[in-house]
Amino acid sequence: MARIAVIGAGTGAMAAAARLSVAGHRVTVYERSETYGGSLGRYARDGFVFDTGPGLLHLPAVYRDLFVKTGKESLEQCVTLTQVDPASRHLFADGTAVSLPNASRAGVTGALDRALGEGAGARWGDFLDRAGIAWNRSRRPLLEEPLPEDRQTLGRDPYPGVRRRRLLRGARQAGTPAEVGAWELADPRLAALLDGYALSYGLDPRRAPAAAALLPYMEETFGSWYVGGGMRALADAVYERCLARKVDFVFGAEVVRVSEKDGRAAGVELADGTGVEADHVVLGAQPAPGLLPVREEPPAGTQGAPVPGRFLVMLSLRNAREAGAVHRTVVHTGDPGAEQEAVFGGRTAHEPTVTVLRPDDPATRPDQEHEAVTLMATVAPHGPVDWTDGALRERFAEVVTGRGAEAVPGLRGRILHAEVRTPAETAAETGAGGGSVPPPALAGAGGAYLHPGNRSPLPGLYLAGGWSHPGGGTAHAGMSGALVAGLVVEGDGFRGSR
Ligand SMILES: Cc1cc2nc3c(=O)[nH]c(=O)nc-3n(C[C@H](O)[C@H](O)[C@H](O)COP(=O)(O)OP(=O)(O)OC[C@H]3O[C@@H](n4cnc5c(N)ncnc54)[C@H](O)[C@@H]3O)c2cc1C
Repeated sequence: MARIAVIGAGTGAMAAAARLSVAGHRVTVYERSETYGGSLGRYARDGFVFDTGPGLLHLPAVYRDLFVKTGKESLEQCVTLTQVDPASRHLFADGTAVSLPNASRAGVTGALDRALGEGAGARWGDFLDRAGIAWNRSRRPLLEEPLPEDRQTLGRDPYPGVRRRRLLRGARQAGTPAEVGAWELADPRLAALLDGYALSYGLDPRRAPAAAALLPYMEETFGSWYVGGGMRALADAVYERCLARKVDFVFGAEVVRVSEKDGRAAGVELADGTGVEADHVVLGAQPAPGLLPVREEPPAGTQGAPVPGRFLVMLSLRNAREAGAVHRTVVHTGDPGAEQEAVFGGRTAHEPTVTVLRPDDPATRPDQEHEAVTLMATVAPHGPVDWTDGALRERFAEVVTGRGAEAVPGLRGRILHAEVRTPAETAAETGAGGGSVPPPALAGAGGAYLHPGNRSPLPGLYLAGGWSHPGGGTAHAGMSGALVAGLVVEGDGFRGSR
């Protein structure tokens, strides 16, 4: 039995903790705040309840596996999971609207044909077929296995772009989501659809590898799921599972340094000066400067540019949700170039893409005569934009609310209360610099969109959570927990979690 110190109680770290405890280790989680879950937070006021992080779950199989491997009760016995159908509604700048059914390729192509014109569905379907090839090529090494020593094996873009002849310049295939949009989808609304997926994960459609096509493929193939009560309920369930497996939690315990002895991790030092010895240390957060005794690798996909965060407006509304209201609506920008310049250039966008979340869940509202609605935009992190500036917060909240009003009838007249969350609050909740939200790892671009591996260069120190392989997002962080547990339990010979 080894003593394992886990830093942070985010979902990736907790997933590792539960698995390691089941494997017979003594696991203690040191969390600097007074609660678990990190990004999976909850804001409640006067009977209205909101997620302060992601509102939907993708790839629930990752958490099904966690619950199967760590106890008797399945994920579905611990949380209520429902498929969100339609998965999303899209409002494009030219006034076109389309609702895409959940996990139904035929349904999606049919809906696109009807809304965007004959042929649009086939183009999107052909694109998803190519994205499926990319998924099959990179799924195991990217999601289910530790990062290979030779990162170059993931340096090539797995997306099989259509080769395009260019006058006098030879053939080329699309290398970014923006090029896929322009060359293969050939409709500004389909291009906006793909851009919107990339942006919602914090990726720049002009620079990310075309392998970002995996994201719509993943959502449209495996579905979008809502956790009853909100995503915080998933964090509750993972925490409860950890407690049931005898994981210890110490809250209000900020780790300031991972200690090293004889060339390996030997424990953690807490802000109050306490030193804790451990045989293995698992870091489940972005390493603050000086936390690690080894050189830190830069986060993936940044290429020097700041990683975006999220801006939320949580609205308590009077009057009932109208019949047939859609759970998730994306209000697309009319000027994708300007929005991308702003988000990745450290400014606020004039016309941001806004995701409107309207769960039909009685647990989120005081009664049937009210509704809780969250508006979310991907934005530049705190730093380049000063998100503590009250006037700026108010101005941008006004812009986001105006965009949200395009999706919710009579929105402005229904507002009882609006609560704003910016990357400045995310930084406080997760410890990530500037409140950046880590994007999922992608193959391609010579490996620039990969995160540091789960086994650090310092023996005995492992990395879990969104800032390590395979990157950000609830499902990806859950995978990182499985990979860390496999590496600790089976050692360097561990080749994958399935
Ligand atoms: C507003 C928002 C929207 C998001 N939207 C989406 C989405 O739409 N889709 C999606 O897939 N993902 C989304 N994410 C990302 C997703 O929530 C996370 O990637 C996922 O929850 C994994 O988190 P994690 O395991 O990396 O830990 P985190 O949630 O980052 O938590 C880290 C924990 O470590 C603690 N900690 C940090 N430093 C220390 C220290 N030195 N000592 C002790 N404790 C420490 C923090 O207090 C925190 O509790 C969103 C995140 C946010 C904030």
